[in-house]
Amino acid sequence: MNLILLGPPGAGKGTQAKRLQERYGVVQISTGDMLRAEVAAGTDIGREADAVMKAGQLVSDDILVRMLSARIERPDCARGFLLDGFPRTVPQAEALDRMLAEKGLALDAVMELKVDDAALVERIAGRYTCAKCGAGYHDTFQKPREPGVCDVCGGRSFTRRADDNRETVMARLAAYHRQTAPILPHYAAQGKLRSVEGMAAIDEVTRQLEAFLDPLAGVVTEAVAS
Ligand code: AMP
Repeated sequence: MNLILLGPPGAGKGTQAKRLQERYGVVQISTGDMLRAEVAAGTDIGREADAVMKAGQLVSDDILVRMLSARIERPDCARGFLLDGFPRTVPQAEALDRMLAEKGLALDAVMELKVDDAALVERIAGRYTCAKCGAGYHDTFQKPREPGVCDVCGGRSFTRRADDNRETVMARLAAYHRQTAPILPHYAAQGKLRSVEGMAAIDEVTRQLEAFLDPLAGVVTEAVAS
């Protein structure tokens, strides 16, 4: 299955993507993670993207499309992929349609996580991840069981993203409403869009996404079977 997960920063895309990845065997492709890896590695792309990302602005389409096209060709995407953070603009959505068509691929579904802006700023400003395994935590909503120790791997050092401060979050939210929200009609017109209430509890959001995707993936759930 080839999927897109859409929603403003902090909507829970990363959390849900990890769950969908396990259930459907698709590979999560986060353009933000890929760009951060380029910045950390000090590549040409990373140097170009660094300042743009720190300002909460969008990196050029050309870079994104090239990076993504190469990523989708890797063998681990054979069972499909889940895009997280791409497309973010109508031109990117159109470029993605073209790129997939050239590869003989198509999108199966586009899922939107809908959220409330004020609550989002609270969510994002408090989030951090384990430096060792990448497990996600939050100052208020998702603390590790033992303070300062990662539930998953026992790691004791954590990182916060440089762009997870209030000012940058507001800029990223504004960019989402201005540039990304207009792509929803693009996918609605293709009959592929499903919107889910992203402010619900994490498990409930997952349940709603699965209810939509299971039939597409051919997964027979108990409710369907009985
Ligand atoms: P994210 O982790 O998805 O919130 O992305 C972090 C930052 O990476 C964004 O604020 C942008 O500067 C850049 N970025 C990620 N994906 C894209 C994209 N599809 N188009 C342009 N810039 C992007």
